[in-house]
Amino acid sequence: MSQLVTLLNRYAHEYYTSDNPSVSDSEYDALYRELVELEKDYPQEILPDSPTHRVGGKVLEGFEKYQHQYPLYSLQDAFSRQELDDFDNRVRKEFPKVSYLCELKIDGLSISLTYENGVLVVGATRGDGSVGENITENLKRVKDIPLTLPEALNITVRGECYMPRSSFDAVNQYRQENGEPEFANPRNAAAGTLRQLDTSVVAKRNLATFLYQEASPTNEPSQEAVLEKLGKLGFTVNANRILAQSMEQVWAFIEKIEQEREHLPYDIDGVVIKVNDLEVQEELGFTVKAPKWAIAYKFPAEEKEAQLLSVDWTVGRTGVVTPTANLTPVQLAGTTVSRATLHNVDYIAEKDIRLHDTVIVYKAGDIIPAVLCVVENKRQNQEKLEIPSKCPSCGSELIHFEDEVALRCINPLCPAQIKEGLIHFASRDAMNITGLGEKIVEKLFVEELVKDVAGIYRLTVEDLLELEGFKEKSANKLYTAIQASKSNSAERLLFGLGIRHVGSKASRILLEKFHDIENLAKAKQEEIAALDSLGMVIAESLETYFAQEGSQILLAELRKAGVNLAYLGEKVAADAALSGMTVVLTGKLEKLTRTQAKEKLQSLGANVAGSISKKTDLVVAGSDAGSKLTKAQELGIEIRDEAWLESL
Ligand code: NAD
Repeated sequence: MSQLVTLLNRYAHEYYTSDNPSVSDSEYDALYRELVELEKDYPQEILPDSPTHRVGGKVLEGFEKYQHQYPLYSLQDAFSRQELDDFDNRVRKEFPKVSYLCELKIDGLSISLTYENGVLVVGATRGDGSVGENITENLKRVKDIPLTLPEALNITVRGECYMPRSSFDAVNQYRQENGEPEFANPRNAAAGTLRQLDTSVVAKRNLATFLYQEASPTNEPSQEAVLEKLGKLGFTVNANRILAQSMEQVWAFIEKIEQEREHLPYDIDGVVIKVNDLEVQEELGFTVKAPKWAIAYKFPAEEKEAQLLSVDWTVGRTGVVTPTANLTPVQLAGTTVSRATLHNVDYIAEKDIRLHDTVIVYKAGDIIPAVLCVVENKRQNQEKLEIPSKCPSCGSELIHFEDEVALRCINPLCPAQIKEGLIHFASRDAMNITGLGEKIVEKLFVEELVKDVAGIYRLTVEDLLELEGFKEKSANKLYTAIQASKSNSAERLLFGLGIRHVGSKASRILLEKFHDIENLAKAKQEEIAALDSLGMVIAESLETYFAQEGSQILLAELRKAGVNLAYLGEKVAADAALSGMTVVLTGKLEKLTRTQAKEKLQSLGANVAGSISKKTDLVVAGSDAGSKLTKAQELGIEIRDEAWLESL
């Protein structure tokens, strides 16, 4: 149970807070179910941080927190007809004549809109259900959200904000061309967009909404009447819904929608079934997490049959060789799929996948399409897949280590590995060189302008101008981004070097302790392994890396090029001036930017919060400070100015 809680909480953080899921929704749901079953059997063992009694994610820094007046809930979910029937039986036991409104479950993110006297005053995310983020300025840029209503109402409404498939394709194309990481699916793209600090980005991305709930008290008798009212007020309401008297009708609607789903211009992940009568809803009430009067039927991950035409083998940064299937094109979750991962050689052997087989492809959670299995009774060809024995990039012998599922090329000079290493080096979490994406790296590599990461720093504007597609302005821009990356704090460089097992978090921990990469290179294995949350595997990997002559030469070249090898983030001592204090910044500062002030406070040990509460210990106020200052004064919180901060 504890393992599941840890894993699910990590996935939820990636999904809700970082908008960057690493597993499919069905994988998450399956683990979640396993936990629910265990909690049923061992109620005394339920862990306090279990995701089964919490809604959604955390509030990010950067936006003000918003305390919802009416909490936002999640939904109970069902994956089978049986589970829907169980839900229906529970409801009908008390209310035999109940009818259900069935709506599409839009795959976006929950928003709450509050109007005062008919004017939009607050737009917020769900957050953990009681506290969300105030994203009013961003939501004002979503074109179908009315800024004013035809009547001077005080009302809070709820709905889903989503990115239409057409906008999603356009955004990803743009990101790909600019070397930025693509969004995994429209839901993540919508969530990422609404958390932009630059409102003009939101305006460009064409988000849209469907509203479905009046959260403030309503006089309407039913869910159906609420939707009609919302439509009349100028909100977009989804017309694809039915009022069902029985589970047979509900199920027929679900089956129809499942057929039509791929032709919709937006993603849905199920159908929401709600008791229509609002008085009955009130009688039924809520669990800690979800209403008892509604249930979300979730579609199984979409699967299709396709024929396996051929397999491409590609070498990744660490030398792992990955097979990708080329397939006859199929429509899957709104896009055409003609390539899907086959994971690794062991997977191919285990599933006995052969050339020209009919295979099942799925796109669970709309992440990367994958081959699930073979449809054996459709096998016409006995030809086995040819497993390469030589690296497709450099031709050296491939190794299948005993404890690994994949083939590996161990030649450090393998061009494919070097190229992938360059892409990793420039990526956002590493050196963060904007504009140096996959395509440009490929060109630089083919033109032999760059052979290793130090080569990036030898590039001149003239070199870049030689590349196809570069003009004066774009060449200068990339050159400037490369130069700027030289002054990064060194944990980015360490992560960028792509040393096995050394991720971005480990890099930070290592440099906090050893201060610069050269010290780290001299550190003893035991010293490294003794560090919190690191271990022998990382220590050994570092030792092997730094023992290589090539690594020493590379570091020397980077140093010569002016790349910073030292850790710049200040280490916070336990006795730092503001250690453990919660500090809020407000108003306009003269000398420091907001970010600088925040970093300074953090380096002094403070926890910088976005809004004033009883937990605030101190406020640093600049000129023109507004309501936060007033509130701080009301609560009697200590107030200081910029000069004081500087004096620390
Ligand atoms: P949910 O998405 O299953 O259902 C609740 C939400 O449905 C509501 O908050 C609302 O935003 C939305 N909704 C859409 N249309 C609606 C309509 N017509 N009426 C009412 N609500 C509607 O619940 P959740 O708590 O937001 O998320 C849980 C799900 O998120 C999981 O089941 C999983 O699939 C996914 N998840 C995935 C990962 C991952 O790593 N892949 C991690 C965490 C969660």
